[in-house]
Amino acid sequence: MTLLLRAGLVVTGRQEIENGWVLSRDGMIVEVGSGPPPPADGVIDEPNCVAMPGLVNAHDHMYQWATRGYVPDGTLFQWLRALYPVWARMDAETVRVAARAAMARLLLCGCTLSTDHHYVFPHGRPGIFEALVDVARELGLRFHPCRGSMSLGESKGGLPPDSVVEDEDAILAHTEEMIARYHDPKAGAMCRVVVAPCSPFSVTPELMRDSAALARKHRVRLHTHVAETLDEERFCIEKFGRRPVELMEDFGWTGDDVWYAHGIHLNDAEVDRIAEVKTGIAHCPSSNMRLGAGACRVEDLVRAGARVGLGVDGAASNEDSNITVEAHQALLLARVRATSPTALDARSVWRLATRGGAECLGREDCGSLEPGYCADIACFRVDDLAHAGIEDRVAALVLAPPSRGQTVVVNGRVVVRDGRLLTGDEDQIAREIAATSVRLAG
Ligand SMILES: [Zn+2]
Repeated sequence: MTLLLRAGLVVTGRQEIENGWVLSRDGMIVEVGSGPPPPADGVIDEPNCVAMPGLVNAHDHMYQWATRGYVPDGTLFQWLRALYPVWARMDAETVRVAARAAMARLLLCGCTLSTDHHYVFPHGRPGIFEALVDVARELGLRFHPCRGSMSLGESKGGLPPDSVVEDEDAILAHTEEMIARYHDPKAGAMCRVVVAPCSPFSVTPELMRDSAALARKHRVRLHTHVAETLDEERFCIEKFGRRPVELMEDFGWTGDDVWYAHGIHLNDAEVDRIAEVKTGIAHCPSSNMRLGAGACRVEDLVRAGARVGLGVDGAASNEDSNITVEAHQALLLARVRATSPTALDARSVWRLATRGGAECLGREDCGSLEPGYCADIACFRVDDLAHAGIEDRVAALVLAPPSRGQTVVVNGRVVVRDGRLLTGDEDQIAREIAATSVRLAG
C-alpha cells in the first residue's frame, strides 16, 4: 500500500519544500519531492498545512492522566508524597483508561512516537504493562514502553511508601519477560521495551546496576530520572556522597544506550560529560515549570553536542500531553534562562521535538521525512485564526503552538484526519477518564 501526502510546506528536517509531497509504501517513506507527484493508493492533500516529521515524546507517565490536578502548588517531593497512596490503588484497567486518554491526546497533537515510563506496579495487580502495549496498538501509536520500578521504600530510606515498592528479583524477572514478549529490534518497529528504574531516591544502587546489566544483555535501552530537583541532589549527596550524575556514572548508567529525564541541575563538567558519552536528555519544560524544579541548560547541552529531546512528563505535573506546547515552552524557557532572545530558535526547537527525541529513544529510522525513515508525519494548519498571516510558518507553529494536528500518520496509517482521532472515540475516552479519575480519588 502506498500513501501520498501533499502539503503547502513540507519540513523534512533537512530542508523545507514548498508544495511538497511525501510518498510512503508499507509504512516507510520511499520518496520526497515537489511538483507533479507520483500515483498512490491513497492521497491526502493539505495545502493549508505544514507537514513535518511526527513529533517524538521522550518522557511520560501515562497512568498519571487519571490523577491530574493534584497538589497544584507543591514541589516534586511534596507532590510525590501526596500521589503515591493514590497511585497505589491503580490496577490494569485504571492504567488502560489513563493511557488511552494520554495516547489519544498525544496523537491528536501530532506525536507519533512516544515512550512511557511506568514504574508503579501495586502488589497483586497483574496486566499493567500489557495494558499499555495493548492501548498503543489499539490507537496506532509507535511505542517504547519502559518497564520502570521502585524498590527503595520509606523503611529503607527511600521516598515512596513501602506499599508501592517491589521485590528486586521480581522486577528483573518481569522486565525480562516483557522484553521477550514485546521488544522488536527491527527497523520500522512499532514497539520497543526499555529498562527504567525510577530515580536515585526510589530504587537501590543494586537494582540500578542489575538493571543496566539486564538491559545490555538484551540490547535494550535504559531510562531514568536524573538531576530533576535540588531536593534530589541533596538526597544523593547526603545518602551516597555523590551528585546525581556521578552516581549514574558509578552505576554504569552512561553511554549512548541511556537517556535521562530532565537533567536540570548539571554543572559544566556534567554537561560536557553527557555530551561526550552521548547520553540523551528528555527536556520537559512544562512539568519543570509547574513543579518549580528549575530550567534545563538546553542551549548549553545542544552546543556541547548532547542528544536532547522533548517530553511532556506525566500529566499529573503538566495536565496535558502536547509536544507542540513543549516546543513552545522550551523556546521561551531557554530565553528566560539565558535572558537572551537568541537562546533557542524555532527550527532548533523543532529538531529537539523530532530527531532529538528519536535519538534519545535510539531510533535511526524516526524523526525525519526522508526515504528510508518511518512514515510518521504530522500536519498542522497554518491558515487558522492562531497562525494565519504569520509569514514564517515554521516559527508560527512554535510561537503559537497548535491545539491539535490536522492530519497525523503513523507507520503509513492515517490516525488523525481533520483534527479527529480515527482510531478511538475522543468523547468516550474523555467520559471514561473522568469516571476513572473520580473513582481513583476515592
Ligand atoms: Zn518523570
